[in-house]
Amino acid sequence: MMDFLERSLSQIDQEHRRRRWQTCDAPQGRWVTVNGQRLLNFCSNDYLGLANDERLKKAAKDAISRRGLGSGSARLVCGTMPEHVTLEKQISALKQTEACLLFSTGYMANIGVIPSLVGREDVVLADKWNHACLVDGALLSRATVKRYAHRDMTMLKSVLAKSGRYRRRLIVTDSVFSMDGDCAPLDDIVMLAEKYDAMVMVDEAHGFGVFGDRGAGLVEKMGLQGRVHVQMGTLSKAAGCLGGYVAGSQVLIDYLVNHARSFVYTTGMPPSVAAAACEAVRIIEKSSDSRRELQKKANFLKQGLQGEGFEPSDHVTPIVPVIVKDSAHALSWAAALKEQGFWVQAIRPPTVPEGTARLRITVTAQHTWHDVERLLDALIKLRSQQCHT
Ligand SMILES: *Cc1c(COP(=O)(O)O)cnc(C)c1O
Repeated sequence: MMDFLERSLSQIDQEHRRRRWQTCDAPQGRWVTVNGQRLLNFCSNDYLGLANDERLKKAAKDAISRRGLGSGSARLVCGTMPEHVTLEKQISALKQTEACLLFSTGYMANIGVIPSLVGREDVVLADKWNHACLVDGALLSRATVKRYAHRDMTMLKSVLAKSGRYRRRLIVTDSVFSMDGDCAPLDDIVMLAEKYDAMVMVDEAHGFGVFGDRGAGLVEKMGLQGRVHVQMGTLSKAAGCLGGYVAGSQVLIDYLVNHARSFVYTTGMPPSVAAAACEAVRIIEKSSDSRRELQKKANFLKQGLQGEGFEPSDHVTPIVPVIVKDSAHALSWAAALKEQGFWVQAIRPPTVPEGTARLRITVTAQHTWHDVERLLDALIKLRSQQCHT
């Protein structure tokens, strides 16, 4: 009865799509160790290098001494501790919103929020390249889902223009797209939403800590505070911890506390994680120099690749995709880079569209200029070898 398991796995193997993890035997950082091999880490989302920061570790340890490990229950039962409340206040202050609500992960935030806001009589308008958990949240909501071509505002506009028969409209987009490293045209999205009476939800998983003078995200950078109804994000990437959040009006947060099932029916995050994230948010606010350096290094890598005939997008974010199209190629490029001491992941369908398998390179504040130059050289050499075989 269960042989479909084997069959499916061998199918995946044939297509070069089998997913496996490699155990990272070191804290997150510029250097990691995998199977005893020291590698320069170019695949982490720990953009500011906070995952192993002494200040965060101390905050977590102190909180464990004060509060122990688990939070004991859901937040609404006895699982809310001062660390949660402080963190929610800090994030809403940074975001310039009235309130904020924590979730255990960003994924859980998205699958909780979307079904709370829309249902069968409504429509979700989603960028085709949105993150998987936004797709899942929309599916769970049972609303009609209209996916518009990536960043295509003409198409979004025409779908909106025909959406009059739905009760509510919700536009959902990544701010920085996780696999392509380009940015959503948030200003146009907000304008269209205002014109057609739609709610806007922005997922800042890769914008939080990275964009804006105070690191609040792309919404801050584009000056759209107050015009985005739902600002979702994660504490798992630039903040170096774990957890998701939603920032918005007080009434939105009160409503989610009563409707979002992935908030109500799950245990609150450990207070030590919340305490570490408080420290991370404090640091993020003061990290504009790191952000500028990070942008410069990412820009250097992108421009270097462009000069060599690669085609990364013009958007300067720490996510730099090198599209090699074919899954087997992506794997062999990643393996070749690993031999030279670089850790880069091959991202293949179904995570990305057919024919767009890629290396997803992420630059962090911890990389030196020399690291980035070496990676660029290695990529250029690989490409020229590829052209000659
Ligand atoms: C990583 C990611 C999430 C999920 O966040 P977690 O905290 O890791 O669960 C959500 N949205 C986007 C765009 C992401 O890249």
